[in-house]
Amino acid sequence: MRISNFTDFLSESESKSKTILILIAMNDEALPAIKSLGLSPLPKQGKMPFMLYGGEHQGKKIVLMTSGKDAKYNVDNVGTQVASSMATVGIQQFSPDIVINAGTAGAFSEAKSTIGSVYIGSIIKYHDRRIPIPGFEEYGKGDYESVNIPESVKNLFPQAVVSTGNSLDITDAERKSMAELAKKGPIVKEMEAAAIAQVCSWNETPLLVLKSVTDIIDGSEQTADEFQKNLQIASGALQDALLKVIGKI
Ligand code: SAH
Repeated sequence: MRISNFTDFLSESESKSKTILILIAMNDEALPAIKSLGLSPLPKQGKMPFMLYGGEHQGKKIVLMTSGKDAKYNVDNVGTQVASSMATVGIQQFSPDIVINAGTAGAFSEAKSTIGSVYIGSIIKYHDRRIPIPGFEEYGKGDYESVNIPESVKNLFPQAVVSTGNSLDITDAERKSMAELAKKGPIVKEMEAAAIAQVCSWNETPLLVLKSVTDIIDGSEQTADEFQKNLQIASGALQDALLKVIGKI
């Protein structure tokens, strides 16, 4: 489908087909999916930095947003603040039937994760929001769930706890508590999902979190180097996973 302008795309979205909003932080994470879904760039709306792509795939309307670049630092926008703004704008503008947050993450060899492993989020929570005041403590941790996702979709990939924070590196305390959880099953560490889950829950919009592994937290390599080295492999795995998931929605 060729999209000549934004208004056409929006009015076509009023048809009966499902609208899927895919939120991906980084451009390099999104490129393989943009290509294989056959999405075209949509004009940028307003002054927010987000990039928009749209198209139709298997009879579903797809809108894919990336966080765009920070104009001052000239790097991709990542992290929770940007993710929640992007989710807010995307949900308000496109009223999706479902949001998919796709991206890369760190994981643990203790839980048998390897580079390119793909997971569907089960519990989605924050690991760096410590507010030791009664009530606020649990609020800080989050604990969102992927709600209203059909079992047929949930069963496509193994499930993992998704742990969100605003750093690529990890403190000793965070490493210790995540390593404990990794003994029980897969856990992935990334920088956006819980923020998006919070906005989706306010809007009562179903959310599916799909993460592929770029780096092994309990491995020997330095995270930033390992991330760069494996970004392409993991983004390719993410694209394959997205195609499978979209087919089942
Ligand atoms: N060093 C990178 C910066 C990427 S920030 C660069 O130079 O381009 C990391 C991005 O990948 C975030 O969007 C985050 O969600 C994801 N990510 C991958 N591995 C991660 C990890 N181990 N910890 C936190 N975020 C991770």
